[in-house]
Amino acid sequence: MTKITPQPGIMDIALYVSGESKLPGRGEVLKLSSNENPLGCSGKAKAAYAAAAADLHRYPATDHAALRRAIAEVHGLDPDRIICGVGSDEVLQFVVHAFAGVGDEVITTEHGFSMYPILARMVGAVPITVPEAERRIDVDRILAALTDRTRIVFIANPANPTGTMLTADELQRLVDGLPASVLLVHDGAYTEFAAGADGGVSLVDRHPNVIMTRTFSKIHGLGGLRIGWGYASREIIDVLNRIRQPFNLSNAQMAAAEAAIRDTAFRDHCADLNARMRDRLRNSLIQMGIGCDESFANFVLARFADPAQAEAADAALRDDGILVRRVAGYGLPAALRITVGDEDGVSRVIDCLGRFMAEGR
Ligand code: PMP
Repeated sequence: MTKITPQPGIMDIALYVSGESKLPGRGEVLKLSSNENPLGCSGKAKAAYAAAAADLHRYPATDHAALRRAIAEVHGLDPDRIICGVGSDEVLQFVVHAFAGVGDEVITTEHGFSMYPILARMVGAVPITVPEAERRIDVDRILAALTDRTRIVFIANPANPTGTMLTADELQRLVDGLPASVLLVHDGAYTEFAAGADGGVSLVDRHPNVIMTRTFSKIHGLGGLRIGWGYASREIIDVLNRIRQPFNLSNAQMAAAEAAIRDTAFRDHCADLNARMRDRLRNSLIQMGIGCDESFANFVLARFADPAQAEAADAALRDDGILVRRVAGYGLPAALRITVGDEDGVSRVIDCLGRFMAEGR
C-alpha cells in the first residue's frame, strides 16, 4: 500500500520560530522578543474593531476598497496599486506563489528574515543565501549571485534582525543591476521607524519589477490582527489578486486597520518614542562594552564577545523576567535581538545587562 507523502521539498522546510511570550513559572514577563509596539495600538483601532462586531454575520468586502483608500490617502499612493493580506507574510506568499516555481532561484541574504527561504521552499523554489558584509546587505554579492533561474530577490530594509539599512544609492545600484525578469521585493515592515524612509515607494514608481510590502504589526501595534499590504505596478497587483482568497481579511481586521492608519498622531508618537528609547538603549549597551550597530528599526542587535556570553546574558535577562530573541538561527550566535520597549522596559534591560557585564561574565 502506498502512503500519503508530501510534495518533494516540503519536509526541507524549517518550521518558523516565533518570539517566546512566556517564561515557565513566571506570571508577568517583559516581552521584547517579537518587535511589538510597547504602547499597544491606537485606541481608535480598538474602537473600530469592537464596532465591527455588529457585522459579524456579513461577509467582508472582497476588494478591501475602504482600507486601500485609507492607505492610499495617508501615503499618497494609487489605491488600485495596493493589495492587502493577512500580515505582510501573506503578501510575500502571494509574490512567491505567483512568480517562482519548482527549481527557480529566490535570493535572500545571510541574516535575512527567516520567512523568505520558507516561502521559496513552499513553491519548490531554491533559496539562495548571499553573504552580507558586517551585517549589512551587500548589493554586489546579490548581483553576483544572479543566474538565469533567479526570479525574486528579497530584501528587508530596514533589515531584521540586524536593523541595518541600505542607502538610496545602494538600492538604486541593486535595481539597476537586476534583469527586468527578476522581481525585487522591498520589505518595509520597519519603515516607519527609519526617519525619512519612503518604504520603497519611489523605487516602485520608477521600476516595474519592484514590489514593496508593509505591515500593521509593528508601528501600528496590530500584530495580533494580522494585516499587511503591498504596493506595485497595476500589472503585478492584478496577478497577485488572482491567487488571493476573496475573503482573506475580515471586517474587523479591515475596520481596525483603517482606523489605525488614519491615526497618524499615534503613529508619529510611537515613532518618536522608539527613536528616543533606541538611542538610549544603544548608547547604554555600547558604554557597557556590548557591540551595537546603528538600528533603523524598533529593535537593536546586541553583540556579545561570543555565543557563550550571549547565552549567559539571555539567561540573566530571563532571570529578571525579560524575554529577548536569540538569533543564532539567523547566523548571529553571539547576538541577542532586543525590541525597543517603553521608558520602563528599556530601563529594565539596561539595569539587567549593566549588572551582568559588571559581574564580568
Ligand atoms: N518582514 C519582516 C522583515 C519582519 O520582521 C516581519 C515580522 N516578523 C514580517 C515581514 C511579517 O510581518 P507580518 O506578517 O506580521 O506583517
